[in-house]
Amino acid sequence: MNQSDLLNSGRLLPVMEEFYSLQGEGYHTGEAAWFIRIGGCDVGCSWCDIKESWNAKLFPPVQTDLVIERAFQSGTRAVIITGGEPLLYNLDYLCERLKAQGPEHRGQDKTPKSSKGDLLLPLHGRVVEGSSSDPVIQSYSDPVIQSSSHPASGIRTFLETSGSRPLSGSWDWICLSPKKEWSPREEFYTLSHELKVIIHEETDFTWAEEQAEKMNPDAHLFLQPEWSRREEMLPRIIRYILDHPVWKLSLQAHKYIGIP
Ligand code: SF4
Repeated sequence: MNQSDLLNSGRLLPVMEEFYSLQGEGYHTGEAAWFIRIGGCDVGCSWCDIKESWNAKLFPPVQTDLVIERAFQSGTRAVIITGGEPLLYNLDYLCERLKAQGPEHRGQDKTPKSSKGDLLLPLHGRVVEGSSSDPVIQSYSDPVIQSSSHPASGIRTFLETSGSRPLSGSWDWICLSPKKEWSPREEFYTLSHELKVIIHEETDFTWAEEQAEKMNPDAHLFLQPEWSRREEMLPRIIRYILDHPVWKLSLQAHKYIGIP
């Protein structure tokens, strides 16, 4: 197969970064997860805080098997696929392999740690040990994370998407974050477990209600201030949720506490 075929089949993916951290947003806030950020997005949100992800050509495709291996090595129980817009790519193979294999002893703490017990946070394909003010950079080949094992217990797969592209992959959780610039495909309102609407300006509350009306009745509804306008919008969101308690607050907690 040539590169185009490998991309179309999901055997290659333009991965932007991979790291082990805590989910900072939405329903799973605070949960440890291995993040896989896939490059490429054509939605074009003016306030996007990760515009460097837009051009997928900046991220040479890597073998999906290696991406999966690094997720296993992290010892994680959950993988969050984010972007960019990850559904620009076929995620069937990635999910199939993640769910077919997983950490050997689920329930045991297989979090990668140094000999001193400090948490290791892989950043941008590397591993950082120690405090954020005094990090120690190590490569993936460092023996402290050579703990791969592949029994058939499966890793939970979480997706963050704008819903602008057809769904691929199999998911334990879908977070739909719709964008005005490119409305979601209808199936996402049925399939998603969570609706997360970014509030950038006052009219976004109306947009949020329009989106919520389309969602399945079991979905969790979140409002999240757009980061650059958080000081102005957060008090309005709090007031709105007090008046409309079907909604819950989502913060980008990782940014407040300084983790990736
Ligand atoms: S969908 Fe997400 S990555 Fe794409 S432009 Fe909008 S905020 Fe940025």
